[in-house]
Parts: sequence; structure tokens; C-alpha cells
Amino acid sequence: MTPEPVITVRPGRERSVLRRHPWVFGGSVQRVTGDPAAGETVRVLAADGRPLGRGAYSPQSQLVVRMWTFDDDVVVDDAFVAARIVASAERRRDLAARTDAARVVFAESDGMPGVIVDRYGDWAVVELTSAGADRWRETIADAVVALPGVRGVYERSDVAMREREGLTARTGVLRGDEPPERIEIHEDGRVHLVDVRAGHKTGFYLDQRDNRSTVASLARDRRVLDVFAYTGGFSVAAHVGGASSVTTVDSSGPALTLAAENLRRNGAPADGLVEADAFSELRRLRAAHGERFDLIVLDPPKLANNAAQVDKATRAYKDANLQAFGLLAPGGMLVTFSCSGAIDEALFQKVVFGAALDAKRDAWIIGKLTQASDHPVALTFPEAAYLKGLVVRVA
Ligand code: SAH
Repeated sequence: MTPEPVITVRPGRERSVLRRHPWVFGGSVQRVTGDPAAGETVRVLAADGRPLGRGAYSPQSQLVVRMWTFDDDVVVDDAFVAARIVASAERRRDLAARTDAARVVFAESDGMPGVIVDRYGDWAVVELTSAGADRWRETIADAVVALPGVRGVYERSDVAMREREGLTARTGVLRGDEPPERIEIHEDGRVHLVDVRAGHKTGFYLDQRDNRSTVASLARDRRVLDVFAYTGGFSVAAHVGGASSVTTVDSSGPALTLAAENLRRNGAPADGLVEADAFSELRRLRAAHGERFDLIVLDPPKLANNAAQVDKATRAYKDANLQAFGLLAPGGMLVTFSCSGAIDEALFQKVVFGAALDAKRDAWIIGKLTQASDHPVALTFPEAAYLKGLVVRVA
């Protein structure tokens, strides 16, 4: 048997791994022995030879090793990978009372770097973003199709991140039945249609589940504006919550087509759909009608992908929030989000404060929002926290 490949880290660089942080950066590596292939499992040692655990090797990535385990006695094999998926699914069991759609595996937070598994009704969608995750594709597919009630597994490994790992895009059926063009899911009394082939991420923003329900609870008799609406998740929630009108803005035609279907499916008229650039549409509405909405949801895409983009992104967040404040009727509410991990809660709050100041609105934070419980933040991995939202009421 060939000896197991080993990565030895530089003196001092074992510290984060001893604290169970799963990433080893290229600059931390002292020595690679055994010529591991991309995705292969390597044993990780401190400079003094102390064993730190095992991880997946990814020579093309800045993250040269992503840890699978911090226990030197644990072997990473099919049974290990399958057990992680089963345990992860088990941790979400309570959510089944509320929804048939949930994230089953959330990468590092579930001890599975590079692995995303989302459940939509009878189907599961798998997204593999690292060489280590890719190495276990077949094992993961077998484990996911064996989860209770899964009829088919679809792969959506098509994110840009794969390129940095030397991987090409892969999409299509991995196991079982082909999913329908639109999968119907049920969440807190709402129905949403999901396109797992062409939709964003794996098809739906599962992370906003609790926040959709919050919006539903705030919407009664209010005129609602849903900006960056995608397939209208918040629009549907507003309608179900008793909104007097719902206006839905997104720049994507296909997303709005599905939003219209979603609204109709929930018994709402689909007469408030606007395909436009949100920044100009907010300005246009403001010029045309002034303060005329009672509840505005602002959920822009990830505007900062890294620290270098933070300045530009904060200006865009501020602009959108400023325009939204200008559109709120007295006593109105703004539900505003950022899903940029590079922008933390404190900075986001400052941006929203600056926007209120420039819009000359007195405002209070009456609620703080975050990602749903199926997107947990492992205490060892604070980087998993990315979604933050504020519920702001104006005077
Ligand atoms: N609120 C949605 C998710 C929003 S994702 C939900 O809960 O499901 C961000 C959305 O912003 C995407 O649908 C994208 O099409 C849209 N988008 C991106 N840039 C935009 C722009 N400049 N103007 C309007 N929409 C934009």
C-alpha cells in the first residue's frame, strides 16, 4: 500500500486547525509528501509532527487543504462521507413541520467543505464547489438518494468558484428521476415554484425562509414593494400576509415569469411586476409618486465578493436604501438585507444609517434578521455568517 500523503504546516500555523477551523492556506504549508492528487485526502501534521486530522487537498486553490476531520484516528471513506450527510439531514428534522424545502448540507458548517445539498420536495440538488467535494461525488449522490423520500438527485455544480479549483461545470441528473421543470414546495403555508435547472443557486433562496415569514407578519393592509425580488418569495409572503398591493421589481425576465406564476399559485393577482434595473426604478418611482409604500423589501444580490469590493458595494447598498427611504410613507417599514459576507453587521447598519440620514428620515431598528437555521454558523467557522437584515421603521 502506498503511504498516505501528508501535509506539514509551518510552525505556528497549526493554531487555527487546533481550534478546529477547517482551512489551511497555501502560505501555511511547509511540506507536501506523497504527491497527492487534487481532491485526495491528506493527513495534516504540525511542524513538530503532532497530528491535526485529515483534509482534502486542492493544489490549485488558495485553500490548499479543507479539513474533513480533526481526529487523526478517523478514516475518510465512503462510510464517513455518508454518515456526515445523514447526521446533517437529521439535524434539520424539526424543519419538516414547516417546510418540505431546506438546505440539508451547508458545507463547512456541517463538516463538509465544498458540499451543498438542498432539498426541494421529493428532489435534492447537489452543488460541489471544491476538489475535495468533487472527489466524493458518487458517494455523496448515493447517500443523498438514500435519504428518506428522495426520488432524484440533480447536480448544479456550475459556480465560478469551481474554476479556482481546476474543476469544470457539471449539471444534470445524478441519481433517480429527472426533476420536473418546476418543483412545487411548501413553506409556512405558502407555495413556491422552484426551477432547479436554471434558477439562482440551487433554485431558491432557502436562507430567507424565516424572513419571508417575518414579512408576511408585517404586511397586513400595507402597500408592499419587493425590490430584487427574484421569483417573488417576499412578494408571495406579503400577499399571504394580507398586503393591500404588491409591486415586484427585478431585472431578470425569467425570474419575473416565475414570480408571476408563484403569485397566481398563491391566489394573488400578478399585476405589479416590473422588469427593470432596481436602482433606476427606485428613482423613477420616487420622482413619479414620492412616498407611497408602507413596506419595502430590499434584497440585492451579493454586491461585495471580497474585501476589495467593499467600498464600491457599500455605495450601491447606500444608494438603494436611500431611494427606498424616500419612497416610504410615514410610519412605513424597510426590510433591508445584505448577503455579502465581506460586509459585516456593523458596517451594514452604518450604511443604512447613512441612507436614512441623507433621506432625512428618523428611523428605528425594530428587528434584526439573519439566515435560516438550516444555514447554521459553526462556532468554529464564523465565516459561514453572511446574511444580515434590518427591519427599520420610519417616523
Ligand atoms: N429576494 C429574492 C432573492 C434576491 S437575489 C428572494 O427572496 O428570493 C437578487 C436578485 O436581484 C436577483 O433576482 C437578480 O436578478 C436581481 N438583480 C440583480 N441586479 C439587479 C438590478 N440592478 N436591478 C434589479 N434586479 C437586480
